[in-house]
Amino acid sequence: SMAFELPPLPYAYDALEPVISKETMTFHHDKHHAAYTAKLNEGVEADPKLAGKSIEEIMGMMSQLPPLVRNNGGGYWNHDFFWKIMAPKGSTQPSGKLKEAIDAYGGLDKLKEDFNGKGAGQFGSGWAWVIVDSSGKLKVTSTPNQDNPLMDDAKEPGTPVLGNDVWEHAYYLTYKNDRPGYLKAWWDVVNWDEAGRRYDAAVA
Ligand code: MN
Repeated sequence: SMAFELPPLPYAYDALEPVISKETMTFHHDKHHAAYTAKLNEGVEADPKLAGKSIEEIMGMMSQLPPLVRNNGGGYWNHDFFWKIMAPKGSTQPSGKLKEAIDAYGGLDKLKEDFNGKGAGQFGSGWAWVIVDSSGKLKVTSTPNQDNPLMDDAKEPGTPVLGNDVWEHAYYLTYKNDRPGYLKAWWDVVNWDEAGRRYDAAVA
């Protein structure tokens, strides 16, 4: 039996159009996320100390693990998170404690500007993040490849509240080389309710 299973999308493949196309979502979930899941399972089956570990526990031991588990375990967690923190265009708005934290950061426009800058500036493939750091404040970061802020050797550790995939497979079918255009449009499909739940849990 496989340790990890590909989680289903929490909405239809075309639910995020026109920001993210049905074709992009189909390939991204059914091919890319499926491949990370299968290869993560290969890595877990090859290493007895990973038996029965949650994906979060694996993130916390990443400094001791080989690239196969790092790249595919990161890819597994990152994409599961990514699907959940998106929702149909305009369906949610920032609220509650997360809205207060965004205001304390300098406002939503500043958060978007800093996040889009991190995403556009990440050379090659990677992710842009909004995390809650150890002091409870929001921080905007980026990571290369499939790394994430939960890994025990993350340079900027924290709990992700938002994250955007800036690998070309996330946008190229629609946006071609216009990564900044994708980053700007992506804010329309943020699931602010889920981001708020994750913020509340991180500061509880
Ligand atoms: Mn991806």
